[in-house]
Amino acid sequence: MLKDKTVIVTGAAKGIGRAVAVAFAKEGANVVVNYRSTPPDETVALVEAEGVKCLAIQADVSNFEQAEALVQKAKEEFGSVDVLVNNAGITRDTLLMRMSEEDFDAVINTNLKGCFNMVKHTSKIMLKQKSGSIINMSSVVGISGNVGQANYAAAKAGVIGLTHSAAKELASRGITCNAIAPGFIETDMTAVLSDKVKEGILNAIPLKRMGGAEEVADLAVFLANAKYITGQVIAIDGGMIMG
Ligand code: NAP
Repeated sequence: MLKDKTVIVTGAAKGIGRAVAVAFAKEGANVVVNYRSTPPDETVALVEAEGVKCLAIQADVSNFEQAEALVQKAKEEFGSVDVLVNNAGITRDTLLMRMSEEDFDAVINTNLKGCFNMVKHTSKIMLKQKSGSIINMSSVVGISGNVGQANYAAAKAGVIGLTHSAAKELASRGITCNAIAPGFIETDMTAVLSDKVKEGILNAIPLKRMGGAEEVADLAVFLANAKYITGQVIAIDGGMIMG
């Protein structure tokens, strides 16, 4: 179903974004690999190895104009935008008492406003097409909160509210919008955590292991194909949060 479709993946130079880009390529979709500062060469090579077209576009998704230019370039190159995976994200972890205004703004601007920017510009195209699928990367922390992550948890909770609203606004045109809430996934983002913190997290995971980026990517592909699922938040967390 995804063959020859166009997928934009934000923050796709590494981590979950790279795995998502490759997973869609394996389905035969052409992939727009957005990146900010990490060179996207490895992702591009992996995507092209699947025999699909790949376009790497540099843009900071927190910047409204850059996000617009990214979506426009994707449309010009491939003629449509069928799937958007809002994956770009950052952390600036510290306790509330120590959290600077800059730490708060940076995380909200990338994780929440970046998501809004991309949904806004892409949905214009999807509304005309009367089809499309939007997948936003939230986090279990956006549901449960977390010590040292007030900025990140607020942004990821905001992503869930944005997902629900977009799902309601866009449904009449056949566009779905869902969120993925990963738990503890093995990427650069979690590599910086101390062994003590990792041990504490692993103890709280019923399946007793970290998730793989490819497992999250498989869920993104599933949601892109699932035409009767919208407005949902799917946790992929080894059972960390239930209910
Ligand atoms: P990662 O390895 O740090 O990769 C994040 C990517 O996002 C990087 O390539 C980064 O580019 C890009 N990015 C950051 N800010 C951007 C911006 N303003 N514009 C465009 N790209 C930007 O992180 P990850 O673990 O793969 O995380 C991917 C997503 O999953 C994030 O939204 C994260 O919050 C979410 N998530 C991850 C986990 C986890 O356990 N890993 C859990 C829950 C949710 P640069 O390299 O240039 O900085």
